[in-house]
Amino acid sequence: MNSEINQRFLARGSQKDKGLAVFTSGGDSQGMNAAVRACVRMAIYLGCKAYFIREGYQGMVDGGDNIQEANWASVSSIIHRGGTIIGSARCADFRERAGRLKAANNLVQKGITNLVIIGGDGSLTGANLFRQEWSSLLDELVKNGSITAAQQEKNSVLHIVGLVGSIDNDFCGTDMTIGTDSALHRIIEAIDAISSTAYSHQRTFIMEVMGRHCGYLALVAGLSSEADFIFIPEMPPKVDWPDRLCTQLAQERSAGQRLNIVIVAEGAMDREGNPITAEDVKKVIDERLKHDARITVLGHVQRGGNPSAFDRILACRMGAEATLALMEATKDSVPVVISLDGNQAVRVPLMECVERTQAVAKAMKEKRWADAVKLRGRSFERNLETYKMLTRLKPPKECFDAAGKGIEGYRLAVMHIGAPSCGMNAAVRSFVRNAIYRGDVVYGINDGVEGLIAGNVRELGWSDVSGWVGQGGAYLGTKRTLPEGKFKEIAARLKEFKIQGLLIIGGFESYHAAGQIADQRDNYPQFCIPIVVVPATISNNVPGTEFSLGCDTGLNEITEICDRIRQSAQGTKRRVFVIETMGGYCGYLATLAGLAGGADAAYIYEEKFSIKDLQQDVYHMASKMAEGVSRGLILRNEKACENYSTDFIYRLYSEEGKGLFTCRMNILGHMQQGGSPTPFDRNMGTKMAAKCVDWLAEQIKANINANGEITCKAPDTATLLGIVSRQYRFTPLVDLIGETNFDQRIPKKQWWLRLRPLLRILAKHDSAYEEEGMYITVEEECATDAVA
Ligand code: ADP
Ligand code: ADP
Repeated sequence: MNSEINQRFLARGSQKDKGLAVFTSGGDSQGMNAAVRACVRMAIYLGCKAYFIREGYQGMVDGGDNIQEANWASVSSIIHRGGTIIGSARCADFRERAGRLKAANNLVQKGITNLVIIGGDGSLTGANLFRQEWSSLLDELVKNGSITAAQQEKNSVLHIVGLVGSIDNDFCGTDMTIGTDSALHRIIEAIDAISSTAYSHQRTFIMEVMGRHCGYLALVAGLSSEADFIFIPEMPPKVDWPDRLCTQLAQERSAGQRLNIVIVAEGAMDREGNPITAEDVKKVIDERLKHDARITVLGHVQRGGNPSAFDRILACRMGAEATLALMEATKDSVPVVISLDGNQAVRVPLMECVERTQAVAKAMKEKRWADAVKLRGRSFERNLETYKMLTRLKPPKECFDAAGKGIEGYRLAVMHIGAPSCGMNAAVRSFVRNAIYRGDVVYGINDGVEGLIAGNVRELGWSDVSGWVGQGGAYLGTKRTLPEGKFKEIAARLKEFKIQGLLIIGGFESYHAAGQIADQRDNYPQFCIPIVVVPATISNNVPGTEFSLGCDTGLNEITEICDRIRQSAQGTKRRVFVIETMGGYCGYLATLAGLAGGADAAYIYEEKFSIKDLQQDVYHMASKMAEGVSRGLILRNEKACENYSTDFIYRLYSEEGKGLFTCRMNILGHMQQGGSPTPFDRNMGTKMAAKCVDWLAEQIKANINANGEITCKAPDTATLLGIVSRQYRFTPLVDLIGETNFDQRIPKKQWWLRLRPLLRILAKHDSAYEEEGMYITVEEECATDAVA
């Protein structure tokens, strides 16, 4: 049951007779505040009365001040805060009918018949029960005189919508739960920090991470940190795991690795169901290997800190969609949870998900691990596959001759073209190791096209790429030079090194360059090898993919900087910040950072704005300030408009804000490219490069002739690997030409443009949308063609 909001329209102010309450229940997670904010603001936008219920179900049962009407300002300045400002609790009373009766009375008294529950499967189950009982509860309340028959009539149906807030990512039916990405950030920060000290001392370091019965955090943390061993409940090892663990660690130590990382999920166990704790692991290592092993238990650190950009955006989208789903619900509609399906916020039947989630628990109990993994869903499975593939990645013996030199399989090369971005190194590492595992030889080309022409090419070995996953920048070196005009020299080098397959990792230039090379296949037989591009740029402006490597890191950097900039103004008078982001002509960073930062406006090239828009925005800012909001945040993409420059906008706000607020300008520059790649970028690089190795090998095999020459000419032998609606997809470069605006270096269609109305609604933006009396939906299909 996918949401079809594209066809449904709700008018601003159209839901005047309704009451909606939002509450958080069970364990807290980062991003819950962003969800609360989005629910409330969307409700207010639609004219509906919005309430907070404090302390979860307890507040609903206790009533009184716990149920409080929310206004625009009450959710101001909370988007960046971890935890939940309205409190969460577990509540025994609500498990009893008597408690639910009290809760129903409290809701009816306020006219609340719409509930957004932000919690885990327990909380959602409770809500579903409450909904089923609702009419019998109201009957009882009429009987005992607590409510009138008229009240019963008016409040006869309770609508509920669930949002899953949990760091564990343990809920079936959504790719990501609110808080998981942030928890991964905390784990990776800790591992990065500890790695340096562990490295100094030749240590094995054992980290216990959360996830009661779900190994997602441990698994993805393992992938993002080059962990040597992970223990997760879904993949319980045989009881002889100590032997395997010790063999692996000893092998790595003897190969010169100074640091070993072992990650243990809270719920880890062996195949007999015996728990495996960090202590157990340490004991084995101490006793058998006599290595120096240290334990770190992260505990609540994982729930803490500011939410990541992804969690904020996810929560904004889910929260707004939850309110819409409630407003559109009829007495017959099935209660839903809002979930993430690839890149889309969708509605899925609540109890179906709860049942599947419980089925996982049952499968695990019954030791049906494979079923459990299947039930967890596609993302989990895919991560597990990748992890298994990378850990089986010990260079197998048969790939080495007696002297330890690699035996030749295919000869692959990897290079960067364009600006560096986070995740590139993770991709190269994964490429090298996957290829070596297959028996291939990998050449690293330094400094892009110039390096290739200069012969700056070297073979990369297994240990050459150790420790690369967590490093920003591009160890191979990268330049922007395009191949045009240098084809002859390039062909000569490819011939010299007998390159049979080429991976280019980089931004728009990489895509462009690969196209130029493939175009010359008729003139240079050396170019008739399979060529694949992995998009890597913070700008996210490459066609054929919804995300490029590094854009998650860039987004998080900007979001954090915006937080800091706002914080810097704490204690001063009212202030507006005008911040310029990178991205070339692509407004991705400005828009998404605008959503994540709770910005008042984000000016971009793709959505033309006039002096009238600017004027309205300035007046709007002034009116917000008068209502008690004290910070303003305006983002502007670097190439949003030639004449309405960042300086112009800064001056405009400064002049018009005189007496009301002061204004400051910041141009963010290169710090946006980020120091340390986010877990998502590390992971995506790892997964994509692994796919490229397989793809190159397949193509070589399919196009090699009896003389060992490769004769790739077909369009599908020069491709770009992207993420397109949940799938990793290889698209022929020629097919992307029509989708590309080469002048502005952006794709003609960009998925994230459909998030712009949401940004405006959440900022209460008097925009053109509203002015024209247009009806608004959140994920409205407005992925309009970019201005050509
Ligand atoms: P989570 O929502 O994170 O899974 P819990 O399972 O602890 O957390 O549930 C949170 C709260 O939801 C409980 O304290 C209780 O008030 C309510 N709840 C959970 N399950 C039920 C149920 N079957 N019936 C009624 N209320 C429930
Ligand atoms: P996979 O991409 O293999 O499904 P992941 O667990 O990495 O596995 O991600 C699950 C889903 O959530 C994917 O659709 C991915 O696009 C999305 N996702 C998770 N984290 C992020 C993030 N930080 N930025 C963008 N998308 C994300």
